[in-house]
Amino acid sequence: MNVRDSEAVSVLLEQLGHTPANKEADADLLIVNTCSVRKKAESKALGKLGLLASAKKDNPSRIVGIMGCVAQRLKEDIFKKIPNLDFAMGTRSQSRLPELLELVLKGEKSVLCVGDNDKAENIPQGHKPGEISTFVNILLGCNRSCTYCIVPKVRGKEKSRPAKDIVAEIKKFVDNGGKEVTLLGQSIMSYGRTNTVWPEEYTSPAGLKEPLPRLLEAVSHIKGLERIRFTSSHPSGCTKELAHAMSILPEVCEHIHLPVQSGSDQILSKMRRGYSSDDYRKAVEQLRSEIPDISITTDIIVGFPSESVEDFETTREFMNEIDFDNSFIFKYSPRPDTPAAEWKDDVSDEEKIRRNKVLLEDQNKRALTKNEKLIGKKVEVLVEGTSLRNQARLSGRTKTNKIVVFDPKDDIGRGSIVKIEISRVTPQSMFGVITN
Ligand code: SAH
Ligand code: SF4
Repeated sequence: MNVRDSEAVSVLLEQLGHTPANKEADADLLIVNTCSVRKKAESKALGKLGLLASAKKDNPSRIVGIMGCVAQRLKEDIFKKIPNLDFAMGTRSQSRLPELLELVLKGEKSVLCVGDNDKAENIPQGHKPGEISTFVNILLGCNRSCTYCIVPKVRGKEKSRPAKDIVAEIKKFVDNGGKEVTLLGQSIMSYGRTNTVWPEEYTSPAGLKEPLPRLLEAVSHIKGLERIRFTSSHPSGCTKELAHAMSILPEVCEHIHLPVQSGSDQILSKMRRGYSSDDYRKAVEQLRSEIPDISITTDIIVGFPSESVEDFETTREFMNEIDFDNSFIFKYSPRPDTPAAEWKDDVSDEEKIRRNKVLLEDQNKRALTKNEKLIGKKVEVLVEGTSLRNQARLSGRTKTNKIVVFDPKDDIGRGSIVKIEISRVTPQSMFGVITN
């Protein structure tokens, strides 16, 4: 979500006539986009901003601003923490950036814009031309109330964007050469559940009734778009119709990011996630019955208040049972003004680190076994560009979201779809040769 917000703001700045600086030291305007989901992310952002703002004394004409969740959370207090900061822009105020900059340029100090009132329709919609893949917001905010989570506070109430705006935005991206979109929402299956997104007279060609499956269908009809992804999913929204839509729409990738957070029912209930481990299991069964090869990834929090060794072991077993393709494991971090922050953070940091490490090792083993099964097989890859580790090679992803690295071939580059025969694998990547 932050990657998308940064892109939207940089496109907006270019539309205003600004040009990207080649390096930080050359920039006349610096904006730090911030995350407050865990304390570490917030501390890092504030540390960076502190350095940038204090360097303003050597370069007084440089403008330094903050955007995103930390700005939204701290509001005017941010200027106490970082006195030289020129402006702070909240999570739904990006389209106000031109006004904000004008005020700063007129000499106004500590300009704050964190109003929640901007309509979802007003979020900037530009995408960088020349990109193969992009993120598209479809649902802003979150109406859930997981006890550890600061997101509803900083990203506000749910607001779904009208389907026609989303389709128009994606069409434009594809006209500029785009091949893949990832639709974004914190709990994306709530799309269209709190406000209307489809006109009443709309009928879906495949007879789909639910807002998200209908959107997937409409987006899949955009000519030239090769792949559609969406994230983050919630077990309560894994309906039969969604699984069916995923199975009949070839552009929709066989991958779902379905954060479970814990495998222990006691902990899930304390987290107020709104499902039990069995509900989760059933959601997975439903998805696998329609899309047998679907890859399933997840998020886990270790060391949530009162998480015992038994709870942790239950999570570990559950992860093996579901056989996740990948997992992102986080150490619990108490966030201000969340219910869980009132409870004792009673799992020591060492123990959180240990639990994190154990789950990562398990995950690597599972991922390696899964990848090894693909040795000798052909997979379809959308080429994203040169490999990060080795500039002489290309890399891309399968529809199941696995990274594949291979030697280049003439006329194959960013945006090409190639068949790769897999010859070697690690837990996080696969290597192979182009066969088409
Ligand atoms: N809306 C998504 C998650 C958004 S936050 C969902 O519900 O699935 C991304 C991930 O950060 C979460 O899935 C969770 O695993 C982690 N997270 C959120 N708050 C956290 C906290 N206080 N401490 C540690 N991890 C946290
Ligand atoms: Fe946070 Fe829960 Fe909403 Fe995800 S669903 S953003 S974890 S409150």
